[in-house]
Amino acid sequence: MSRLQIHQFPTRSDNYGVLVHDASSGATAAIDAPDAEELLAALHEKGWALSHILTTHHHHDHTAGNTIVKRMTGCTIVGPAKEAGSIPGIDVKVKDGETVEIGSAKARVIETPGHTKGHVSYYFPDDDLVFVGDTLFSVGCGKLLEGDAKTMWSSLKKLAALPPVTKLYCGHEYTNNNCRFALTVEPENDTLRARAAEVAALAEEGEPALPTTIAQELATNPFLRPSSPAIQKRLDMEGRELWEVFGEIRRRKDRF
Ligand code: ZN
Ligand code: FE
Repeated sequence: MSRLQIHQFPTRSDNYGVLVHDASSGATAAIDAPDAEELLAALHEKGWALSHILTTHHHHDHTAGNTIVKRMTGCTIVGPAKEAGSIPGIDVKVKDGETVEIGSAKARVIETPGHTKGHVSYYFPDDDLVFVGDTLFSVGCGKLLEGDAKTMWSSLKKLAALPPVTKLYCGHEYTNNNCRFALTVEPENDTLRARAAEVAALAEEGEPALPTTIAQELATNPFLRPSSPAIQKRLDMEGRELWEVFGEIRRRKDRF
């Protein structure tokens, strides 16, 4: 049973950086390294020494800080084996089901391809935390840049099966826009309407709508709800395979 401290901070134009700190050992992991300077500043502010970067996927806005941060801190860079060739400074190449230790905390690697071919998420079962990069967003999901709808749907199903209390941290804050789209797909969802109002108020205050939880996403996120009769009816896809319904929601979001 570990008790991790979390620090989430906005970085680049619309990314989030997250630090995970195990006070008992002093170990600290950054989820991705979008920007070296801003990551080092966050570490300085907290007084934490970086031991690891946990890379979710190879995109530049998640790895741009790797080389400088590794040089400045001597941290170990962990990342998906399937994208190792395009992750600067990678030391430890991980695959589905493997465990990464951050001091006394344990993260399980879950392969969640779709946004990129080798994208991974990091799940800390003892802490009810999951870091999903650009696979799932609050009320949204990542674009299918290197995978098809069937692949992404099977990744989302793995995340949806985590305990509902699990706190979910994402790579970006797109929640307000995601809610506007979601309401076009499932306007009769009262929980979604309440979430949209909450998120709009938070956006007005400049406050993050993240982290979210698996429970909240199951109730509001159209990309996790292709089995919803209301959604299937609206898309005229009653009785179709769930990955096909998911794919149609993704296509509509791309055009939104
Ligand atoms: Zn990305
Ligand atoms: Fe990204």
